[in-house]
Amino acid sequence: AQDTMLYLNGVSVAFDGFKAINNLSIIVRPAEMLAIIGPNGAGKTTMMDIITGKTRPDAGEVYFDGRTDLTRLDEAAIANLGIGRKFQKPTVFESQTVWNNIELALKKPRGIFPTLFYTASKADIARIEEILETVRLAHRRDALAADLSHGQKQWLEIGMLLAQDPKLLLVDEPVAGMTDSETEETAKLLKSISVTRSVVVVEHDMSFVRELDTRVVCLAEGSVLAEGSLDQVSANPIVIERYLGR
Ligand code: ADP
Repeated sequence: AQDTMLYLNGVSVAFDGFKAINNLSIIVRPAEMLAIIGPNGAGKTTMMDIITGKTRPDAGEVYFDGRTDLTRLDEAAIANLGIGRKFQKPTVFESQTVWNNIELALKKPRGIFPTLFYTASKADIARIEEILETVRLAHRRDALAADLSHGQKQWLEIGMLLAQDPKLLLVDEPVAGMTDSETEETAKLLKSISVTRSVVVVEHDMSFVRELDTRVVCLAEGSVLAEGSLDQVSANPIVIERYLGR
């Protein structure tokens, strides 16, 4: 359907007989941010691994952009369809400038000797500038990535993912290790991205989830325990008993 970017339908996967994901169904709408919370071992990472094709489920389907069943595709094919994943640790080219990091990440036509004869087109330059504005790094465009703060490196990597023009961005605990003001900026940044793209954020930090101000799914034992606003989810008696009340 046109109002669905991602649809996990009855997905299950077991490791040595242990059901890490158990009949999980989740919908992510176009231009929607969804926050996934849940205790350690709830299956959050495994869910992301299934979406990106790193882990193949034993049962269920993962429909992307209305039609494609991702469970039949490999990781590279899934990434090419327009799914970007940001892992917890930033991975940027430390010895390159901020600008070059984004430029290197741009999707470019692959001819013969693509890098040898490549010069950024006007459109590429405009796109890089726009991305640097989005990720709050326009003023650091000539800095080496190595000289950025931890938070800025996280933003740079988000910028590199944006350069790939994903329809769906998966983000794993983006604010771990960030200062309070970086955390606040990251919430704003992800919200601005979700105006045009779908974003799934896995997060432990409840004050950050509150700042995201978006729909929340609480996973436990590989299934949806509760969903709704953060207030609705945190008022759910089972969530309080099993998770928040620990
Ligand atoms: P979360 O990210 O919510 O903390 P995970 O998805 O990492 O949870 O893990 C869910 C459960 O599946 C855990 O009990 C974990 O030990 C188990 N698990 C995850 N990946 C594997 C694997 N490759 N082999 C065996 N068990 C795994």
